[in-house]
Amino acid sequence: MLQYKCDDAGVWFEEVDERYSTQTCICCNRRTGPKGLEGLGIREWACFECGAYHHRDISAAVNILAAGRRHLAVGIPVLPAPGAAAVG
Ligand SMILES: [Zn+2]
Repeated sequence: MLQYKCDDAGVWFEEVDERYSTQTCICCNRRTGPKGLEGLGIREWACFECGAYHHRDISAAVNILAAGRRHLAVGIPVLPAPGAAAVG
């Protein structure tokens, strides 16, 4: 649904890899968060590397945003302006 909505609006859409987004510390980028099925119920945790305190959902959102921005930094194709004629 997001893909066709973005296509309709003329904006870029791309899925990013969300693996480890709940386990990765947003301060030091180390995977210090709760792991495995037993870690799913742990909603808040402190990084044992840098001491930063995280909420699982907020940490995941920040990590996914960072992954998307890394994709943008690499470069994305430019979409043609709505109504622009195709060249070629
Ligand atoms: Zn950390």
